[in-house]
Amino acid sequence: MSDKFINIDGNIVKKKSQKSYDKLYTEFKKNHAEEYCETLGMSLEDIERIGYKKFIDAHDWRKISDISKWRTDAVHIIVCQSCKNEFTTYELDLGLCKKCKPFFDLSLFADHCNLSEKESRGSSYGLRAAFVYQDEFRENYRIAPFLKINKKSV
Ligand SMILES: [Zn+2]
Repeated sequence: MSDKFINIDGNIVKKKSQKSYDKLYTEFKKNHAEEYCETLGMSLEDIERIGYKKFIDAHDWRKISDISKWRTDAVHIIVCQSCKNEFTTYELDLGLCKKCKPFFDLSLFADHCNLSEKESRGSSYGLRAAFVYQDEFRENYRIAPFLKINKKSV
């Protein structure tokens, strides 16, 4: 076995050659990019600015046939909606990278989702989409700097 694995930011991904990154990205651009970007609210410019190798590693695509799995994956990779400088996930991280997450009160947001679900089942999906893609809505959950300081000093 010549498989080698590397740890990127806590994710174990298979080490790939430059050639296989390029092959995967070419295939993505050719047959998936348009639909992917439209569905998940991003652009090729975003992907290339942050780094297409990071993008491929975030999905852990190893061979061409892996790429189409994005359609059925339970977790989707998107650009951090706050800083736009990292990849993150829609489902697990609500579109916030590790650096940006601490600035938002995600437990308050989870409370609101639960309340909304109690009133009407399925309604939290819309709230989640709003949190991820509408800056104005997300800002409601930004932790004010003075609150953060208070929390730390308690
Ligand atoms: Zn971020």
